[in-house]
Amino acid sequence: MLESKKILKNLRSKLEFEDGKVFYTCKTQCARFLFETASDLLFICPVCGEDLEYQENEPVIKALKKRIKKIEDLTSEVSA
Ligand SMILES: [Zn+2]
Repeated sequence: MLESKKILKNLRSKLEFEDGKVFYTCKTQCARFLFETASDLLFICPVCGEDLEYQENEPVIKALKKRIKKIEDLTSEVSA
């Protein structure tokens, strides 16, 4: 129980972080950068030198929401 609460908390804070933000990454996805950081880097990856491109994070948000829901369902079953 305690473990799933911890996971839920982590997932929720991750979701909060992802939500409404714009990320940039290079072709090889060395790292992800927020728009502000990417513009400071002149949209060039500091690791490999490739161009940084806009990365849609909607799939990440969807996956996070799905996982949160799944854990919530599981934990409510256990406590019921
Ligand atoms: Zn790179």
